[in-house]
Amino acid sequence: MHTDPECIFCKIVAGQIPCFKLYEDATVLSFMDINPVNDGHCLVITKAHAENFYDAGPDDLQAVIRAAQRVARAVDRALAPAGLNIIQANGPAAGQSVFHYHLHVFPRRAGDNASFNWQQIPGDMQRIEANHGKILAALAQA
Ligand code: 5GP
Ligand code: ZN
Repeated sequence: MHTDPECIFCKIVAGQIPCFKLYEDATVLSFMDINPVNDGHCLVITKAHAENFYDAGPDDLQAVIRAAQRVARAVDRALAPAGLNIIQANGPAAGQSVFHYHLHVFPRRAGDNASFNWQQIPGDMQRIEANHGKILAALAQA
């Protein structure tokens, strides 16, 4: 499996940097975003390092979508957001800031005015941890 020792998400996959893990299998990893736009904002990434959608392997992409549906359903059950976007950025102009392929599971509140090229504002770790616990409980019921 291809990894990049300088890549922050490869370091999370390797366990060198901690994360609030939601789901893991041989191919993908899902964890809470530490700069959440709304409660429950989380990511699903390929374990293999690929910079973006163009470069990711088709089997890895399939596994990411499967995991994203599972996690999104748990977010919906745990936190009941008004809506939810699945979004993904390729290149800085599209808002990509981490160059390791990932999907955002992006809960929405009515009138939240979330922009697709949003600013990264550090989240409250206790609130992220509390939301992590609620989504994990919902995943366990799936
Ligand atoms: P992008 O801007 O590339 O679409 O999304 C990257 C996301 O990764 C951002 O939402 C950012 O908050 C998140 N992120 C960056 N570094 C870390 C980290 O060390 N841990 C976690 N959990 N999320 C991170
Ligand atoms: Zn990487």
